[in-house]
This record gives sequence, structure tokens and C-alpha cells, in this order.
Amino acid sequence: MKTILSLYLVLAVALAQFFAAYFFSKGRSSYRKAFSAMVLCVSIYLFGFLQIINSNDLQDMIFWNQFQYFGLPFISVLWLMVALLYTRTIYSLKPRIVFLLFAVPALTFIIRLTNSWHHLFYTKWDMRMYYGYYTLYMERGFWYYVNITYTILCMLLTVIIYFIGYLKDKIGFTKSHFLIFLFASLLPLIGIVLILFIFDERSIDYSALIMPVSLLTIGYGILKYDFLEIRTLARETIFENNFAGMVVLGPGKRIIDYNKAAEKFFESINISLKNCPIDQLLAHEQELLEIFESEASRDFSLVIDGEERFFEIDAVQLGDTHDGNTRMLKSIRDVTEERKIQEKLKFLATTDTLSGLCNRAEFMDLAQREFVLAQKSNEELALLLMDLDNFKVINDTFGHAAGDEIIREMGSIILNSFRKSDISGRIGGEEFAVILKNTSLDEAKMAAEKVRKIIARRKVIYGDQEIRLTVSIGVAAIRGGTKDIKDIEDFLKMADDALYKAKAGGRNAVVTLGSGTE
Ligand code: GH3
Ligand code: MG
Ligand code: MG
Repeated sequence: MKTILSLYLVLAVALAQFFAAYFFSKGRSSYRKAFSAMVLCVSIYLFGFLQIINSNDLQDMIFWNQFQYFGLPFISVLWLMVALLYTRTIYSLKPRIVFLLFAVPALTFIIRLTNSWHHLFYTKWDMRMYYGYYTLYMERGFWYYVNITYTILCMLLTVIIYFIGYLKDKIGFTKSHFLIFLFASLLPLIGIVLILFIFDERSIDYSALIMPVSLLTIGYGILKYDFLEIRTLARETIFENNFAGMVVLGPGKRIIDYNKAAEKFFESINISLKNCPIDQLLAHEQELLEIFESEASRDFSLVIDGEERFFEIDAVQLGDTHDGNTRMLKSIRDVTEERKIQEKLKFLATTDTLSGLCNRAEFMDLAQREFVLAQKSNEELALLLMDLDNFKVINDTFGHAAGDEIIREMGSIILNSFRKSDISGRIGGEEFAVILKNTSLDEAKMAAEKVRKIIARRKVIYGDQEIRLTVSIGVAAIRGGTKDIKDIEDFLKMADDALYKAKAGGRNAVVTLGSGTE
């Protein structure tokens, strides 16, 4: 009996040592480290038990019992910790939690170590013979019961946590895994209860016998189906290699973590990321500091190697913030290329490529907006409608390409002849329109006359040919809204009527039509 038990324990210790070393060396996630610490404690405990049953001397037994307590008090709390981390009930071990959880085990260790002074743990020792081997019989003191209660509590909590994990988990595979871990944790719990009620008579440490089975189950489970390790690795890889720069801010706005892209971003402004509060780090970068302190998404631009680059800096809250501490993930996305494409698309959608002025849709849009604004604030608004005279003839005489050249020339004349705030567009083949803000009919007429004269004087050189052109301009102006002119279409119609008159009057002329000006 003793030989079988010893062999079993030797094997269990060897297995536990292997698990401890393996998980410690391979583990990246914190639950693996906790598991390896737990297995190490178990192996100390089992080795002590092995030595006790192989001793024939009470002093030796007491020594090995003491040896057991280098691991024993910490097993259940580490078991609980593995459960907490493995089920993601908590994500990391905060010093406060560790201190709270380890207070009782640490006290147990100290009290057992100093037992000979106060006998709070064991009140009496004895050596007894069972099944052909000697084992230690102890009478339990007060703290023994404190410790065993805490141990049972931890194991109970562990079982509950795996059970909740099992209930809450959506993925079938992880679900069944939690169930296996639940049973693996139930076994030592049963062992402890057995010790508490039967140990007196039989003096068999049931939990020592059961524990290797649980360990094997959990160890095998972690090795074979380590979804958490893969998940952690995947998440870390995504974080580290993300194109977006990522900075994790912890309490006190201290930088907790950052990835390669974030490092590169800060390098471009000669800042090296250290584990320090951002207000220190960005003391000379006020705008960036404001963005990093804010919880909203913001844009930021930066000149890197002579080129302006645009960044979108977003914030994601991490965890709950009711304790008043900031925990934020700041992501920095370079959106320069997107912006360039957007700008190009916008340009293509709104600009007439031949003249460089707004296209018809864009002009109508902007002009309508101005019309509404002028109506609201009862301001004057003028509209010039220009049409090249006898353009068909020009096309027929000099060719279509020459006609295009003239439209290009018209674009640059119009751009140079009006204020920046005015809106000009090519609204038809050789028809152009300009909205003049805060402009009366008389002022608009003067502006129109000016541009008519410029055009009439201009000689467009095409190849070796010199082309002359004239333009007819219809001018309309309103003050506020009128009954007849309800929108920009009506306003355009009004200018078109004036243009028609200019054409009818012989072309190369300006004709005005006013409404609501009196
Ligand atoms: P009017 O003085 O009465 O305006 O005479 P017009 O010849 O200019 O007559 P209309 O305005 O009806 O004719 C416009 C002509 O402009 C017809 C078309 O061939 C020409 N045109 C329209 N768009 C373009 C263009 O993009 N390029 C060129 N080269 N010609 C165009
Ligand atoms: Mg024409
Ligand atoms: Mg025309």
C-alpha cells in the first residue's frame, strides 16, 4: 500500500513539476503563469506528503509537514485566480486584488511557521500507523479552521465561476471546456471536505490523492484546447501590427501600452513614448495633448517630410469609469490617402474640368443656398448669365478644339474677374453663371459690363489663328424673396429673360432685370 501510494505521489510530483515548468516557459497570458505557480505549490505539497508517509520519525514528519506549507496555503487561491483569469471574469491582476486574495494564505504560512510558539495551527502532534505506514496525526488549532474555511471558500468560488462561465459562454467549444474545469475543481473540494470529516479516523490526505487527477485534467485541457492562448496571441498580434497607432492610457492618463505604429507616429514629432503621463509627454504639443485628453474623436494634421498628412484620432473607453480613473484606447489612423481620394472625387463631382468652374449641379446647389440665405437676411443678391455669341460659327470656322480652348479661356477670365466669395459655374455648353453676394442690380451691371469688355478685347490664340469673341449677359437682382422668384430656378429664368433681350438686341451687350429692389 505504501509503495503504491509513494509511486503514485512520485509520478504526480514529476508531472506537476513538468506542468509548472512548461506553462511558465510557454505562457504569455497571465492565467498560464498563475496555473504554473499553482502546480508548483501542488508539487511542494505532494512531495511533502510523499516524505511524510516515508518517515518513521515524528520530527521528520513535522519537518515535512512544515515543508508542505510552503505550497499548501496558496493552492486554492491560485486555483481561484486561474478560474478568474481563464473565464475572463477579470482581465488582469491588480495589486489590490492580489493583496486581498493572498492575505489569509500568507498569514497561514506565517502562523504554521511559528506554530511552536503559539500552537494556533496545530495544538498537538502524534504519529499513527494506518494501513502499514506511519502518518502524522495533528490536533487542529483555531487558525487551521480559518485556513480550511478560506480554502473551501476559494474552491467553491472557483466552481461557481466555471459554472457561470459555462452558462454565459456562447461558444459551444469553450462552454464544454468550462464544464470539464468545473469538475476538475470539484474533486479537490470533495477531498478537502473528506479530510475535514474523516481524516481523524483514517488519516488519509484525500485531496493529495485527488489533486493529481484534477491537475492532469486541467493541464491536458489547457495544452490541447488552449483557445485563450491563441485568442490572446491573436489579439496581441493585431494590436502590435495594426496599421493604426494604438496607445492605451491607464489611470492618471499614464501610457500603459502602445504599438509599433503609435511609436512611429510619435517619432515623427520627436517624442519617444515612455511609461509616463501624457501631459508630461506632450507638454510642448498642446493640440495633441488636448486630443489625447479628450474622449471624443478628433482630426489632426502633421507635416511629415514636407508633406501634410491627416490623422483621425479616436478614443475607446476601456472598462467602466465609475472610479473616476481614465482607461482609454487611443487609435491614430493615417487618413491622408483617403482624404486625397475624397478630395479628388469631390473635385470630379463638382467641377467642370474644361473651364475649371463649378459644374451645373454644384453651381445650382451653392446658388440655391445663397438664395435662401439672402432671402432670410433680406440681402441683395445678383445673378449674371452669360452666353457666348455665335459660338456655333466659331466652332464651324476654327474647329471644335478651338471652341474648347475658348471655353477654357472663359473659365480663367471669369475666375479672375469676380470676388472669391462669388460663385461661378459653367451651366451649359457655352453658358456661364455667376452669383454675386450682397450686390445690387447696378453694381452687378457694372461688373457685367467690365467682364463683357474684357472678353470683347481678348484675342484667343489657337495654333496660328487669332480668335475674337463676344458675350451677351443677362443680369438679374433681387432683395430678399419675392412672390415670383421663389427659388434659384426662378432667379435663373429671370436672368435668362434678360439674356434673351441682350441677344435680341444684337449681342455683345448687358441687359438687366430687377425685382424686389424697390
Ligand atoms: P448665340 O449667339 O445665339 O448664343 O449663338 P450660338 O451659336 O452660340 O448658339 P447656341 O448658344 O445655341 O449654340 C451653342 C453651341 O455651342 C452649340 C455647340 O456646338 C457649342 N458647344 C456647346 N458645348 C460645347 C463644348 O463643350 N465645346 C465646344 N467646342 N462647343 C460647344
Ligand atoms: Mg451662344
Ligand atoms: Mg447657348
